[in-house]
Amino acid sequence: MIYEYKLSVGKEHLYDITSQVQQAVTESGVENGLAVVYCPHTTAGITVNENGDPDVVRDIIFGLGKVFPHHKEFRHFEGNSDAHLKSSAVGCNQTVIIRNGKLLLGTWQSIYFCEFDPPRSRTFYVKIVEG
Ligand code: ZN
Repeated sequence: MIYEYKLSVGKEHLYDITSQVQQAVTESGVENGLAVVYCPHTTAGITVNENGDPDVVRDIIFGLGKVFPHHKEFRHFEGNSDAHLKSSAVGCNQTVIIRNGKLLLGTWQSIYFCEFDPPRSRTFYVKIVEG
């Protein structure tokens, strides 16, 4: 079972997609297995991180900007190599365990779609594997 979701993103940010992923799990009827969350983009990513203090998301974006700033020496014609670097550092997918029909996440964990090159219309997929 594969589920497709659309996302319209206006700024560089981590967008909480936990409820959509849980919706896919619930719709699938799978009680135990894995949820693979995947984004088919080269300047975005998927991560799992804290949902308690919104400053964590802010600091992740800030910190990635410090680690991967724009350089005038970059050659890529689009001028967004910093966003490509962030995408590769974060990765384009996450796998979360499903137990008793629920995503096995910690209290303070959410699944985030990471946008590094806004504004964009984005897609992500959730593949549910029973087992
Ligand atoms: Zn590019």
